[in-house]
Amino acid sequence: MDLMTYAEQLRFGELHIVHDEKTGLKGIVALHNLKLGPAIGGCRCIPYPSSDAAMRDVMRLARGMTYKAAISKLPHGGGKSVIMRPAHLTADGPERQAFFEAFGDFIDSLGGKYLVAEDSGTSIGDMDIIRSRTRHVLGSGAADASGDPSPFTAYGVRRGIEAAVHFRYKRDDMEGLTVAVQGLGNVGYHLARELHELGAKLIVTDVRTEAIERAVAEFGATAVGIDEIYGVEADIFAPCALGAVINDDTIKQLKVDIVAGASNNQLAEDRHGLELKERGILYAPDYALNAGGLINVASEFEGYNVEKSRKLTTAIYDTMLGIFDRAMGEDAPTNEIADRIVEEIIY
Ligand code: NAD
Repeated sequence: MDLMTYAEQLRFGELHIVHDEKTGLKGIVALHNLKLGPAIGGCRCIPYPSSDAAMRDVMRLARGMTYKAAISKLPHGGGKSVIMRPAHLTADGPERQAFFEAFGDFIDSLGGKYLVAEDSGTSIGDMDIIRSRTRHVLGSGAADASGDPSPFTAYGVRRGIEAAVHFRYKRDDMEGLTVAVQGLGNVGYHLARELHELGAKLIVTDVRTEAIERAVAEFGATAVGIDEIYGVEADIFAPCALGAVINDDTIKQLKVDIVAGASNNQLAEDRHGLELKERGILYAPDYALNAGGLINVASEFEGYNVEKSRKLTTAIYDTMLGIFDRAMGEDAPTNEIADRIVEEIIY
């Protein structure tokens, strides 16, 4: 599809491109929607096969950020940046300094319309370099920065799971409920700990044996193979590893009442949201559920305050209940309702 047609389809927005001859920096900033405030979103620095592929990736991701920020009631629009990682840029070589300084100057030239943060292929150290050139950066290593987003993401997912349990089972505790957690990484591990502390039973899987062993030892979790997790008898399935895990193959294996996890883009296609509904499975829309990390980093904008971050993340419970109630009222899939709520706000 032609780029302008793609932009029209995603309802963009602005695209800004930089090419810095001295450092070899080739980057794109995509600002999808600025209605609610300056755009917020991470910077990916990975190899791309072509500038076209980089452009489409950044546009798709920026749109996702608009939806995540708006459903979380943040005063921010959605943005994202990508850097086409050149072969000469190593993970920690001396060339990184000038490279990210040039990128910082580019961010600064946008005058605060875009607030950059860390993402795949960039580090807190890179954010520190960017911060030496512009103040429009979040999540650096500075003393007043927000730190690791993952515990906030996990806490928000837990709150969303509690809302789903309240809606589905009319109860306000997790005691004895079984949660199947797929992926015990930064978020999955913290989520498993929180659920264990609330009295839930855990079934877990990961490709890393040591992560499984830790969950078994610390939380008394039951371990299953990576392909078995979809078919286990549980109340809740919490995908915390990969996208597109709700697809034609897996959906018919599910024996749960609720799907609620941290992964981005859990539905392989939007129609899988309808299929979950038809199967009587309550789906907690991923971008509303996993926004805790974004809420935490965004609170740096007005001066970081951990209590405020926690309070706003706690409110994911209410956001989720609002989506479930409206979906029931309109007899529509929850993923469609979440999108509709956002579009009513931003357009
Ligand atoms: P992570 O890389 O730390 O953890 C992912 C875990 O999944 C790892 O332990 C990995 O070994 C495991 N895994 C990989 N393939 C697997 C498979 N086939 N089956 C089972 N386990 C597998 O990532 P994370 O930061 O914990 O994020 C988890 C998901 O949540 C990702 O999709 C991410 O995009 C999303 N997310 C994370 C955050 C955050 O704050 N970190 C915020 C929003 C969304």
